[in-house]
Formats: sequence, structure tokens, C-alpha cells
Amino acid sequence: MRPIVPDYLTEVLRGVEPDVSGEPAGYIPELASADPERLGAVLATVDGEVYGAGDCDVEFTIQSISKPFVYALALADRGFDPVLAKVGVEPSGEAFNEISLEGDTGRPRNPMINAGAITAHSLAGPDNATPAARIGRVIQGLSAFAGRALAVDERVCASEMESAHRNLALGHLLRSYGILTEDPRAVVDGYIRQCSVLVTARDLAMMAATLANRGVNPLSGEQVVDEAVVRQVLSVMATCGMYDAAGDWATQVGIPAKSGVAGGLIGALPGQVGIATFSPRLDAHGNSVRGVSLFERLSSDMGLHVMEVPPAARAVVRSNRIRPGAVGSTRVFRLQGGIRFAGAEKIVREVVQTAPSEPRVVLDISLVYSIDDVSRRMLLEVARRLTLDGQEVYLVDPEVMVPDPDPGDGGRLAVVDDLEQALNHPGWPALR
Ligand code: GLN
Repeated sequence: MRPIVPDYLTEVLRGVEPDVSGEPAGYIPELASADPERLGAVLATVDGEVYGAGDCDVEFTIQSISKPFVYALALADRGFDPVLAKVGVEPSGEAFNEISLEGDTGRPRNPMINAGAITAHSLAGPDNATPAARIGRVIQGLSAFAGRALAVDERVCASEMESAHRNLALGHLLRSYGILTEDPRAVVDGYIRQCSVLVTARDLAMMAATLANRGVNPLSGEQVVDEAVVRQVLSVMATCGMYDAAGDWATQVGIPAKSGVAGGLIGALPGQVGIATFSPRLDAHGNSVRGVSLFERLSSDMGLHVMEVPPAARAVVRSNRIRPGAVGSTRVFRLQGGIRFAGAEKIVREVVQTAPSEPRVVLDISLVYSIDDVSRRMLLEVARRLTLDGQEVYLVDPEVMVPDPDPGDGGRLAVVDDLEQALNHPGWPALR
């Protein structure tokens, strides 16, 4: 059978192809001469499958799509507090190159606008890094997100540097407030090199998939940044990634995203996929016209909006039965699926309402494929309270979903590999 997704992507590309509105970025001379007809879309799953259609392997400069990734590097290298002290997380509702800083502190409002991105660049690498070492760290970090060694387009870099008056002005303003503490020209130069890194739509999809995959590159397996950093970056992308079009984007597409003036656009859907599109004509916000249409279509066709409410955790309790065993009757709660807070609450409610009177109670989680921390603690608390009521509690956990099964404070729990073992267990103590 032919794979389905590439055929679908090809069809979606065909849908936007006739739209020739917008213009390639004009303020960077090298970008103005880009082939405006280029069009590609790539989808990368969190387990490393990559589907593409159109111009997936054409290189172009990353531009502002570097911003969330370099922000991630700054957070990873310096820690949250020093970065938050210098760059805020409030959507500015302004254009990407707006000359705007918080009135009192001079702090850029967020790391997605240029002022914040220039500051984030200055915070990549260790505190005392030279400008050259810092750009080295940035290129190495972007490469780790992409899973291959990336390089700078020197022509685009030189071209942007020649007309970088606005970014230089921002740099000097940041220096005057003490947000930058060194020669602002060196920092802006580094930031422009960062924007001139060459990528393909395939690279960008993999970078987005790394964010969607909690910071682990799906192909290399490298943990590029930790989960707390990813959560911060995705939150800022969701609120600020599309500049003054962020609200429209959040309601219509609903995927944490970032655009770049060379025509790239990425979206990272937590736990599912990274998506990248490439088409150089831009709208008035500086976002790719056909890229925005592609994302609107992909989001609605595939139900990718993050605010789409998933089905309620209705079926976490698969069954609630009394089973005979060698040593008397046993109450068995068989649980299933992925358990998060709402599912755990259902389980607690079921146990409380059942008020089991059997001497032995089994919580069978052999059909549970994921359980988060709060749910784990809630299950252990159920076990603890049942113990205090005088019952023997068994957890059927063959996959070790609960690695440290200690209910604490007077609770006891016997962990077994299958239900039969629990039913026929001679009784406590025989804890694994
Ligand atoms: N290098 C570009 C600039 O600073 C990046 C802007 C963008 O992609 N939105 O102007």
C-alpha cells in the first residue's frame, strides 16, 4: 500500500499553490531575490517518521524560527531566573521588529520579537563566552535540534548585516538599559548569523518534532534541552510566536508556532508531531501567506488544535468485579488506558462508591499504558486508605508503571505480575 500522509500533503500543497499574494521579505536584499514559487510541507512524528511533499530539501535561512530554539539554549545554559530577569514572556501584540521595551525596566516583552531574541542570543552559552564562542554554541545547539550539522549562509548574513540599522538600534537601546552588557554590535552580529543558518523544511520539521517530543530529537535520541525548558518555549511560541497575528493564529490554528521572514513556518504539537512549511511570500505581519493557509488546513483536517478537548477519561475503570480465589473473595478493579488527574479521580470515586468489603483488593494496571505523577500518588493513597481499613491491597503491575510503590504512612501494597498471583497469593507479607 502507498503511504497515505505524503499523498495528503501533496493534495494540500496543490490547494494553496494558486495563491500568489504577498511578497518575499524586501528589507534583506538577498531574501528579496528568493524564488517565490517554492512550496513544501513536512511532517515529522515524535517517533521519527518523516513525511514530506514539494520542496522539502531546498535550503533557506532559518531567520526568526531560530528564536524559540536559541531561547531554549539560553534557558538551558543560564537557568530560568537570569533569563527571565532580562526577557519577559508577555505577548507584545506588535510587529517582530518593533522598537519596544518595557517602560520601567527596559526589558524586551518576549523572546520572539527581535529585541527579546537579540537579548536571548546574548544569553546563550556560559556567562563569559566570547561572541565567537557564543555563535559556536548557537550553531551547535540548532544543529542538535535538527539532528545534523547546520551551516551559515554567508551571503544572506552579510546582506542583512549591511542593512541592520533597526536591529542595531535595538541593540544600542538594550545596551543603554543594561539589558545587554557588552558591545551591542557584536551581539547583533551574532544574532544575524544565527538568523542566517541554512535549513530545509525537513530540518525544521525535525526541530519542531524535538520540541513536540519533550526535547529529545526523535532520530538522534539526544535530549537537547530538558522538559521544563520545552514547556516554557512552547508556551511562549503559543502566545507570541506569530507576533501581532498571535491571537488569530491561536484561535484558528491552535498549534505553538514560529515563522521566519525567509518563508519558513513551524508548528510543534506536544506529544504528536512537528510540522514545517516553506513558501517565501509574506503577509503584512511577516508570516508566510501560503504557510499560514497550509497550517489552517492541516489543523482543521487533522484535528490538531491544542484546545480541542479530548474524549473524557471515561473508561479508565474497565471492570469492577468480585473474584473467587484460593484464600477467599477478592475485589478486582481493572484499570486501562492513559491515566492523568481526571482519570485518577474516576478511579478514586469508583473505589469510594464501591466501598469494598472483601478482605483483599486488587488494582490491576496491566492494561494501563501511561500514568502521570499525580495519578500515581492518588493510586498509592487509595492503597494506603484501604490498608488502614484492614484490607490487603495488591497492585498488578507487570510493566512497572509504579516504580516506587510505597503508599507511606501505614499503607502497604504487594506488587505482583499478574492477576492470578494476586488472587492466589497466600497473604502478606511477600512484597516484591
Ligand atoms: N533576521 C530577521 C530580522 O531580525 C529575522 C526576522 C524574522 O524572521 N521575522 O529582521
